[in-house]
Amino acid sequence: MGKKVIIIGGGLAGLSAGCYAAMNGFETQIFEHHSVPGGVAATWKRGGYTIDGGIHFVVGHKPGNDMHKILDELGAAEPALFTDMRDYGNFIHEPSGISIQINGDVEKLSAKLKAMAPADIEMIEDFFKGVKAFRGHDFSTMGMTNPPELATVFSRIKEMWQMRSVIKYFTGPYTKKISDYALGIQTPWLRDFFCNLFLSESPVWFPMLYLAIVADKQAGFLAKGCLPFVLAIEKHYKSLGGEISYRSTVEKILVDNNRAVGVRLADGQEFRGDYVISCGDGYNTVFNLLNGEYTDEIMKDRYETWPLCRSFLTISYGVNRLFKNELPLNTVILKKPLVIGNEQVKSLLIRILNYSDHFAPAGKSVFQIEVETGFDYWYKLQESDRKSYEDEKQWVASALLQQVEKQVLRQ
Ligand SMILES: Cc1cc2nc3c(=O)[nH]c(=O)nc-3n(C[C@H](O)[C@H](O)[C@H](O)COP(=O)(O)OP(=O)(O)OC[C@H]3O[C@@H](n4cnc5c(N)ncnc54)[C@H](O)[C@@H]3O)c2cc1C
Repeated sequence: MGKKVIIIGGGLAGLSAGCYAAMNGFETQIFEHHSVPGGVAATWKRGGYTIDGGIHFVVGHKPGNDMHKILDELGAAEPALFTDMRDYGNFIHEPSGISIQINGDVEKLSAKLKAMAPADIEMIEDFFKGVKAFRGHDFSTMGMTNPPELATVFSRIKEMWQMRSVIKYFTGPYTKKISDYALGIQTPWLRDFFCNLFLSESPVWFPMLYLAIVADKQAGFLAKGCLPFVLAIEKHYKSLGGEISYRSTVEKILVDNNRAVGVRLADGQEFRGDYVISCGDGYNTVFNLLNGEYTDEIMKDRYETWPLCRSFLTISYGVNRLFKNELPLNTVILKKPLVIGNEQVKSLLIRILNYSDHFAPAGKSVFQIEVETGFDYWYKLQESDRKSYEDEKQWVASALLQQVEKQVLRQ
């Protein structure tokens, strides 16, 4: 056996690190806190329905790009795991009554937006020029097929050359938040349209790239949810001789002469290895598992001052009907915001899992509503009063259902 690598966390990163370490001749052991693999790529059952709570789609599900090669190496490229994402989704703007289908035909979409918002033609053209620039290239791994440490001068030049047509979108105004970019838009619904293509804090280039990927048919839904995808990687990892221990929480990374030499679990057991890779939470790794002893001011400043991504609440519904004609993704900008806790919810994302019949019994469906709500409100509520927390969840689920039943999901 070769040298031993200890990996903290059995999410997608930990399992992938385990596979690659095993493929390269290392003895590997993953310690995972939970009883199942996958981390946030989680799927669970409720009364005959399959609730997919994490990843819904992946890039590179079909051969011909770098990400597909990686999926193949990880044992997760089986075509039955995926179904093509044909269209992006619907944008429904209740205040103006506008509804737009965002499909793979980006040329047509751009022309439609220009006809509907003539005051913003310049902005629309600028954005879709970016989408066009990203099309037809393989950006599935964003030039990170090789780890930076293994990149050579030649491979860097090659990557730069491949990226030449889009380099400008990784600089200047396109690195700004899309919500800032959209400030220049005069038509109010169009501003909402751009801000809701993805997260409003994502850089401008990201939705450009994303629309290009959908237009190039390079995105695929996980047809059976994320669990079979995760289990395929776990199976591959084990077939390579990798070990994984569940319900095993790493409490400390053991250090000797400023070198990680193993881990101590919460139950006191210690395991030694030649390398330790942490694929758990970054903050916990740096400030708890390593006692904050191997950090610097730049890292501290990032954790202290960088804003966190806003938190989302997802409610999943099992319903006694099919959604045959609806698109899987529907963004709704509400006419009347809904008040949840002390915040106004102005938009909803409705995700309809109708791209395979795996999620619900025959004739039935699962759909999900995602809204942005502050984490602190829910955390404090469940800490102080469990009953109020459960009641509030029920209330939000009913209020949102009423909201979408009114028009979006009308039969
Ligand atoms: C709701 C949601 C939807 C998403 N949708 C998509 C999508 O459609 N497409 C896409 O490409 N990406 C999507 N993502 C992103 C993607 O799911 C994540 O980037 C990816 O799964 C992260 O994997 P990870 O292994 O880095 O982290 P995690 O999944 O967080 O795994 C970390 C693991 O480490 C374990 N762990 C942590 N600390 C310890 C410890 N001390 N000891 C032992 N174990 C420990 C945890 O239990 C966990 O299992 C989505 C993410 C979320 C949350």
